[in-house]
Amino acid sequence: MTRYIPALPDGVVMPVLPGALCAGRDPELWQTDEPSDYVRGVCAACPALVACRQWSIEHDEIGVWAGMTRYERARAGRAS
Ligand code: SF4
Repeated sequence: MTRYIPALPDGVVMPVLPGALCAGRDPELWQTDEPSDYVRGVCAACPALVACRQWSIEHDEIGVWAGMTRYERARAGRAS
């Protein structure tokens, strides 16, 4: 995973997500609240999607993770 992570709290380490399809792609495309169909499609096909979603919900990340915006993840986190 080669995403830019703007503000991880001290002591929090981003897990290695084997097979992350965003690795090596332009990270700016994921740093938005309005993801493109391209970004959503990459995430939908990603073998790391479940682990990515769980981690990003737990850490309240900004941007698109697991094909979801921060708002969408917050809703999903409240529903689980
Ligand atoms: S689900 Fe999306 S953001 Fe998460 S690792 Fe895969 S491609 Fe990257």
